[in-house]
Formats: sequence, structure tokens, C-alpha cells
Amino acid sequence: MSAPETSSPAVVCSQCSTPMYSPLCCASCGALNPVPPEGLHFNYFELFGLPAAYDLDAAVLHRRYLALSRGVHPDIHGGGSDDQRRQALALSAELNRAYETLRDPVARAEYLLMLAGGPSPAEDKSVPPRLLGEVMTLREELEEAEGSKDAEAMERLRQTIATRRQATMDEIANLCRSTTRDEAIRRQLRKQLNAVKYWNSLLEKAQTTAA
Ligand SMILES: [Zn+2]
Repeated sequence: MSAPETSSPAVVCSQCSTPMYSPLCCASCGALNPVPPEGLHFNYFELFGLPAAYDLDAAVLHRRYLALSRGVHPDIHGGGSDDQRRQALALSAELNRAYETLRDPVARAEYLLMLAGGPSPAEDKSVPPRLLGEVMTLREELEEAEGSKDAEAMERLRQTIATRRQATMDEIANLCRSTTRDEAIRRQLRKQLNAVKYWNSLLEKAQTTAA
């Protein structure tokens, strides 16, 4: 397993006392983190030894994911007891969940909002003002262009939608970089995360229409 590239290790291995950069497993002796009976409660950022921030180095995340995957791979611990194998399976599944969450910008922002105690999508479905009207208009224009088989108009609409989606993602990034201890920021972030779902589905429609 490769050596840590940032952040100081918070814990030491219970087996060999080597500082661990991820609580998942020991890079030195390969010992796995014991899975508590009530289940796993890892902070996904700590799991990769990364600071809890929206901006992250995707290459570092990927490298650590690969290194940790080898460390917790059930086959490596297959020769051990049933307990060890179960442990490896649970840690491996958790590692995959963590990776899928952190590598996707929307899922990462959702996770940061959750860590900050912000509202879930079910608790707050509100969207920025004017979003629904704008989405409805673009949807109608898209259907019109599709109906008249106007490829140029469809491409223009696809670009407009992609630009609006990107603006929402930029807003999400800015809000994540502001202090999420501020409740007004958390509410704004919730709205933008709700909005990006509309842009995603509209963009998908525009792409299938254009194809
Ligand atoms: Zn160890």
C-alpha cells in the first residue's frame, strides 16, 4: 500500500501500533478495522485520509481507493477465519460506497451537506426562484424542436441546458466552500442540489432527443 500524501494519521493500528492514514486497514501489517456489531460508521473523508472539503484531488482519491481496495480485498483475507472474511467484505462494500460518494461532485456535495446537518432532499424539496418556469419553457422548446425535427435548435437547446447545469454546479461548489455552519448557506445548498436534478433530467432528454 502506498504511503499517505496528505493529512496526519489520526489513529494507530491496534495490532502493530503503526499510524494509520485510513481507519479501514493497516498499511503496515494489513490488519482490518474490527467491524462493530451495530455496523459501520466511517466518515468517508477520514476513510481516505482526506480533509472534509468539496475540492479534492481526484487522482489522489483514486490512488487511495485502489490501495485500500487491495488492503481490504476479501481474497487477501480469504485464508483467514470466517470472521475475517466477513469483516473484509463489509469494509470492501463500505469502501466502494465511500468512493462512489466522494468521486461524484453532486453526491459529494450532498454528503457534505449531510455532515453539516443540513436538510435531506425529502425534508426540503424547495428550488431556487424561477427555476421551474425556466425548466418548463426549455422543455416546451425542446419538444417543439423535436416535433419539427429542427436539429440546429435541438443542439442550441442542449447547449443552453448544459450551461445552466454547469452554472448550478458552480453555485454548489461555491456554497460548499462557504461555511456550511451557516443555516442560510445550508438551505441555499439544498435548493441548488434540488435544482441540479431538474437540469440533469432535462439534459438527458435533450441528449436522447438530439441522438
Ligand atoms: Zn498494523
